[in-house]
Amino acid sequence: MIRRIISKVFGRKRPASGSGPRLLPRAEHGIQKDGIDECALKVCETLGSAGFKGYVVGGAVRDLLLGMTPKDFDVATDATPEQVRKLFRRSRLIGRRFQIVHVMCGRETIEVTTFRANGQKESEEEDERPTDEHGRLLSDNVFGSMADDAARRDFTINALYYDPLREEVHDYFDGVADCKRRVLRMIGDPETRYREDPVRMLRAARFAAKLDFRIDEATRAPVAKLAPLLANIPRARIFDEALKLLLSGHALRGVHQLRAEGLHHGMLPLLDTILDDPTGERFITAALKTTDARIAQDKPASPAFLFGTLLWPQVLQRWHALEAAGEKPQPALFLAMDDVLDAQRHQLAIPRRYDGMMKEIWALQPRFEQRGGQRPYRLLEHPRFRAAYDFLLLRAESGEVDVELGDWWTRFQEADEDERAGMLMTDSGPKPRRKRRRRKPGEASDGEAQPA
Ligand code: ATP
Ligand code: MG
Repeated sequence: MIRRIISKVFGRKRPASGSGPRLLPRAEHGIQKDGIDECALKVCETLGSAGFKGYVVGGAVRDLLLGMTPKDFDVATDATPEQVRKLFRRSRLIGRRFQIVHVMCGRETIEVTTFRANGQKESEEEDERPTDEHGRLLSDNVFGSMADDAARRDFTINALYYDPLREEVHDYFDGVADCKRRVLRMIGDPETRYREDPVRMLRAARFAAKLDFRIDEATRAPVAKLAPLLANIPRARIFDEALKLLLSGHALRGVHQLRAEGLHHGMLPLLDTILDDPTGERFITAALKTTDARIAQDKPASPAFLFGTLLWPQVLQRWHALEAAGEKPQPALFLAMDDVLDAQRHQLAIPRRYDGMMKEIWALQPRFEQRGGQRPYRLLEHPRFRAAYDFLLLRAESGEVDVELGDWWTRFQEADEDERAGMLMTDSGPKPRRKRRRRKPGEASDGEAQPA
């Protein structure tokens, strides 16, 4: 308490490293030891009895402080990777440039990282770390002290170290206070830190959405100017970050946060077009809400389904344009799918492994219109029926197709044989035999769109 008052009086600022952290006893941080994963506890204990330090660090400490359940537990230590590996029989070294150790207990893996330096300049002297012409750090692989390790982290709330043996939190940058005030604040000079690693801008948006935190003004301010630096980041890393945001359980808030900060251009380049169209907006909103709800219920959310929804408004637009230009509906849809996937590959780089499922879901959509004869039965048996049906419901919810169509399919699934027979529509569906469709559109070779 006294320490906190002193810090209030003398200001919050601490040098990047060099000075000691604030040590908070349990009464002040409130973290219960039994909230810590057993495996992580054991790792810290083993490190401790071998004469090393071992702390639970990063997201887990932050989440526990906020009363949330951590996704995973990371441990930071002053032992070198080689020393850590020797202490745990079931462990292995990972990574080439900067080695970390994976320690396995049961089915769990704990990531153990040796304290690292490099997050921040430590003095005003010439900074010798290699950067590119925009200030991006090109290497980040030097062991350091615990204070260095704290200073290289991104936000104050992510630089907290929990010592399970003493039940103390080591707080270098007033992260606990920021947690309480629900403020996301960058460690060090925000502009420099974004230049070192522009992905931190996306992380700011993600944490603000996930935690429902306000972004501190000084932390937010440089983003508008620096957002274009994301263009220099490898596409795969942007994709990973996009996925984390979309699967954070707060995708809806996250996407709006990205847009508000002007960060979506590099990540979801067509978001503006989608959101400016009322049907597109309703569709994406419904899709993101469903994803968030699934995650809240601990159900799996498929990235392919999610990216399929994000790209659908474009597919739809292109499909209609091709049809209007005289293309037949089915080939027009396949052409549109390929056009959209090609175009996004340069921007967001959704890995090709998701293409197959996205295409199947899209290609099945017109088949929901066909409600006569054997067709509905065949569709029900399709391995992607469930995902495609969920997708149809989003289309119905956004007003793109009739609500009645979604309802029909809901009832059709639940109905018994007699009821199903009574539901079939003799007049609707495709005109008999004219289209000579040879293959189920859901199959893998769908993507090879036939020319007109
Ligand atoms: P989540 O709950 O989403 O996993 P997290 O805080 O654990 O959140 P991670 O991406 O798992 O986030 O990273 C672990 C820790 O590593 C962070 O808490 C932060 O201290 C540090 N860190 C990760 N990425 C960066 C970065 N780009 N710059 C600086 N520090 C980072
Ligand atoms: Mg984490």
